[in-house]
Amino acid sequence: MQVVSSRSDVRAAVAAARRDGLRVALVPTMGYLHDGHLALVDRARELADWVAMSIFVNPLQFGPSEDLDRYPRDLERDAALASARGVDLLFAPTRAEMYPGGEPWVAVIPEHGADRLCGASRPRHFRGVLTVVAKLLGIFAPDVAVFGQKDFQQATLIRRMAADLDLGVDIEVVPTVREPDGLALSSRNVYLTNGDRERALALSRALEGCRSLFAAGEVDAEVLRALLRRSLSTEGIELEYADVVDPETLQPQIRVGRGTVCAVAARVGGTRLIDNVVLAGISADPA
Ligand code: AMP
Repeated sequence: MQVVSSRSDVRAAVAAARRDGLRVALVPTMGYLHDGHLALVDRARELADWVAMSIFVNPLQFGPSEDLDRYPRDLERDAALASARGVDLLFAPTRAEMYPGGEPWVAVIPEHGADRLCGASRPRHFRGVLTVVAKLLGIFAPDVAVFGQKDFQQATLIRRMAADLDLGVDIEVVPTVREPDGLALSSRNVYLTNGDRERALALSRALEGCRSLFAAGEVDAEVLRALLRRSLSTEGIELEYADVVDPETLQPQIRVGRGTVCAVAARVGGTRLIDNVVLAGISADPA
């Protein structure tokens, strides 16, 4: 595996892959890799011949009081994991390499869908995400870029950006990878104490509850919302949102159907966690 930190080295490596006729995939991450990230690599490998991963903790997507400075980082460990999983090129730029002129003059600002769910508490977050992803897509010009369903609002907005700006890249979304007990893998899980981790299981359990209700025929979104709120109104969990939305428009639904997303965000012991499920079970809804 090649490890590079400059955009020009990336361009040279991609050009060489293209000369060999290879299909190029990109897996953008903020590092501190876990099996969720590595599942994206596996999917990228199925869809392309040459797989690149980026690791960049993007300051533009963090708010002033968020965890940018303490976000976990371990490039040596990440490089070993990426290499063992078959990544061909790892791009780990500095902040100055990505933003040589400091804060960019031009950013990608979503017109819709970024002001609710995670965007309600993180007002400039998706602007930062879309801007860095647009830059990475510009640097790599991949055939396909792979993201996780874990950040489903992000995946929806990136898919929209690629379509609306005709970026010429396929956006692939991979199901959330979980611990055996249901906890969604996240780099931020290292912040959790043993007690927090136990309490955090309420998120995936509440979402599983929605899945079961839907499978049993419940189609009233408000019933699912009430279940989420009830399950997450316990001591030690500070609920930020619990919603039931259309995956394309991100708008709250009245009746749910296949593809509807149940999504939650909550603070557990000061750590902000998000999780979601896509409803796919058998529904009694005749529609
Ligand atoms: P991050 O490093 O947290 O910014 O995540 C990088 C990519 O990995 C994003 O596309 C995430 O949605 C994806 N990802 C993070 N956690 C998981 C998970 N548990 N399962 C699948 N994909 C994930």
